[in-house]
Amino acid sequence: MSAPKIRPRGIHQNPRPGTTDFEFGQKQAAQQLIYYHTLCAALQKKFSVSVSKGFIRKSILTIPLSAGPDANGRLVGDPGITLGVLARRPLSDINFSEYTDFALESIRKFKLEIRPGGLAPQEDLEIWHNIFKNNFETREGNVLSCTHGSFAREFWPIIYNYHACGDTGDAGWNKLFNRLKSEGYPKSIIPCRYFGAHAGCWDGKCPFLHDKKSAVANREAVLKARRKTFDYKHKPTPQQSSARIRLLLNRRTGPSASFEEREALMTQIHKEVKGDRAYCANPECMNPWTKDQITSPLKNCSRCKFVLYCSSQCQKKDWPRHKAEPCAPIEVLVENDDLWSPIGTRKGTEFFKTNWGGA
Ligand SMILES: [Zn+2]
Ligand SMILES: [Zn+2]
Ligand SMILES: [Zn+2]
Repeated sequence: MSAPKIRPRGIHQNPRPGTTDFEFGQKQAAQQLIYYHTLCAALQKKFSVSVSKGFIRKSILTIPLSAGPDANGRLVGDPGITLGVLARRPLSDINFSEYTDFALESIRKFKLEIRPGGLAPQEDLEIWHNIFKNNFETREGNVLSCTHGSFAREFWPIIYNYHACGDTGDAGWNKLFNRLKSEGYPKSIIPCRYFGAHAGCWDGKCPFLHDKKSAVANREAVLKARRKTFDYKHKPTPQQSSARIRLLLNRRTGPSASFEEREALMTQIHKEVKGDRAYCANPECMNPWTKDQITSPLKNCSRCKFVLYCSSQCQKKDWPRHKAEPCAPIEVLVENDDLWSPIGTRKGTEFFKTNWGGA
């Protein structure tokens, strides 16, 4: 694998009018203006929420019924029984007709979780702030990136909280929001959405804050969070644990096993995997390195020095899958934004991407 292109960050461009770069900057400016006014409408409480008719089915736990490796060695199975389909939530639209400074379109159809009294529970706030902090789009693009898209679900309850008790749950945001309010919403104190991220800001007249020091610090914080996700060798990831549980369950039961038999076995398997610290990366093997083994029976992949195997046969067998993860030194993987999902998890690998539930 060739090294990924490291994009310049924290830069400000002044492209000549008439060039494609100039046009690009104009597009950034137009987009940023929408996000700025959305933030103003949110902080000025000039929005209303209506509930639309759509409902979402929520599954909590899926118990596989029959499964095993197919001819290509991938784990396949029928979707099994899905529990917890009872939770259904209406979808929300946010309308901005009360906000007259700018014509904002509604943000439509997303899950808005507000508790009675307009307050979000403290634990939810913590989770949402963690999502914002560990994500490169919101972290490097800062607060303007949070108002729309996949982050609206977390952002708007925080705004509700802010109006209900003057606290967003984050000291940095509280400070910024209160300053914006008292100073009349100056653009110059809101971090530019583009300056810290990807190709930088190409708007020669960008009125938002270009703070190189904080852009660099934000980038470092994101990379640090990513490095942490590779530090799994003394504790399996949740995805690894559930793959191991499924594997043991399928090895020990046949398709004819009753629901009760599976349930009893599940309890036993859950206890067993508690003693594991890492697994052979071959999905068909998953031999464990247990907590009572001081030295590891597993060996590192010599190329990425990250993935573990119990034998050279397992490594050979798993190579087509692992090659695509891709297999590269950790620092290369950490730097490459394209390999990370918006919530800060590795794309593609998710340890074992199987065909469970047809997903
Ligand atoms: Zn800018
Ligand atoms: Zn490797
Ligand atoms: Zn193995």
